[in-house]
Amino acid sequence: MTDLRHLSLGPLQDGARVIILGGGPAGVACGLRLRRRAEALGRRLTVTIIEGKDFTSESHYNQCIGVLSPPLPALLEEDLGIDFPYHLTRGEIREYVIHASRHQLRLPDEASPSIALRRVQFDSYMMEQARQRCVAIVPAQAMDLELHAQAVLVYTDSQPVEGDVVVGAFGLDEGTATLFARHTSYRQPEALSSVVTKYHPGDHAMAAFGPRIHAFLPAEAPIEFAAVTPKGNHLAINIAGRDVDAVRMRAFLKEGTVRAVLPNLDQAGQSDPHDLRFYKGRFPISQAKGYYGDRYVMVGDSAGLVRAFKGKGVTSAVQTGIRAADAMFDVGISRQAFEAGYHKANLDILRDLPYGHAMRLAVIVMARTGMMDAVIRAADQEPRLRRALLGAVSGHESYRQVWSDGLAPRSLAAVVRRLIIR
Ligand SMILES: Cc1cc2nc3c(=O)[nH]c(=O)nc-3n(C[C@H](O)[C@H](O)[C@H](O)COP(=O)(O)OP(=O)(O)OC[C@H]3O[C@@H](n4cnc5c(N)ncnc54)[C@H](O)[C@@H]3O)c2cc1C
Repeated sequence: MTDLRHLSLGPLQDGARVIILGGGPAGVACGLRLRRRAEALGRRLTVTIIEGKDFTSESHYNQCIGVLSPPLPALLEEDLGIDFPYHLTRGEIREYVIHASRHQLRLPDEASPSIALRRVQFDSYMMEQARQRCVAIVPAQAMDLELHAQAVLVYTDSQPVEGDVVVGAFGLDEGTATLFARHTSYRQPEALSSVVTKYHPGDHAMAAFGPRIHAFLPAEAPIEFAAVTPKGNHLAINIAGRDVDAVRMRAFLKEGTVRAVLPNLDQAGQSDPHDLRFYKGRFPISQAKGYYGDRYVMVGDSAGLVRAFKGKGVTSAVQTGIRAADAMFDVGISRQAFEAGYHKANLDILRDLPYGHAMRLAVIVMARTGMMDAVIRAADQEPRLRRALLGAVSGHESYRQVWSDGLAPRSLAAVVRRLIIR
């Protein structure tokens, strides 16, 4: 690795001040890692997180289904020194059911189950861990920033915060992205939109639903994928695509294959008045441009450093938050330092992005042409193809590995057989 310690924007020294703009998983992970490293090195370090939402009262939240997957528990415990909040668990995900237009396939995932919880409670827990480790929390909205040769200044709607470097951990917030775009070469990643809703079908129906996510790959545009996820006492339903909206969600909820997995949908709202309210969110699907420079670096969704297409957004956010903290300690806070210490550390994510994009396009084409039904039926017979589908839908495998399994001669032969014998 290039040695940049001689530069004035070199590794964080005793007395350094880091501002983190955004207190989601990426920002808080970065703050926790910075404090941990500072303590280990015996350096004084001021870390300030500016967060506009109040997670503790649960009056605000970050849009998420709340399915958290390995290696997140290990990242929290080993790299951040905090316990994974198993006490917040609302259930484990032990199986996926993929629905194409006519066929479906069950994919058990007993080896590495994911955990379903309420995301707002996870964010509140993480923020409290940061507070306990002397991270200063400014409950405010950042309004503007100045990047100077010697320092960074962030203006908020409560107080100004000055530091040596600013970490952009603001997710896909367009207003905050515009602030950075005004002062730097930063440009937000491209995104898919999503609509989320939930309802409470009753205890018996939830027990019968079981610990499985139903994933849908509909033939009609614009929905690219959709899922129904059990969350303890309710089901969360989300659709995603370039241009999905409430009208699409209503149509999706009326489809026969979807209704077949949604018990007691007609009684929604009887036990909870919030049932079937719609919420809008966005997923990044590309890398952001100019996501680091002198005295600034983006982490998580802001950087677009996530698994392309779908899956594991929280895990990637925490991972990139940790990597940015390490880069600031080990290499520095200049553009070159982030290039050497941060960009290179994220090559595993970056190199998988083209495979993820190709997978997204392939899935759209296969779903629209009915070929996905042949793939699903073939996977029923061919273990390697089944592994490819589980790796993709659970997010456990890189897309490169998914392609390698999906294009293996036996997988291809099984699909061709299914296409011939309809
Ligand atoms: C519908 C949907 C479902 C999803 N489900 C899952 C899932 O089940 N599992 C999973 O792992 N991932 C899921 N994701 C992805 C996951 O939510 C994100 O990848 C993850 O939240 C990214 O974390 P982050 O810290 O980068 O950004 P965020 O979680 O978006 O956090 C950014 C924070 O910055 C704050 N902020 C922004 N601007 C300002 C400002 N100007 N001043 C102060 N504060 C500011 C915001 O209030 C926010 O708290 C889902 C996403 C969507 C849209």
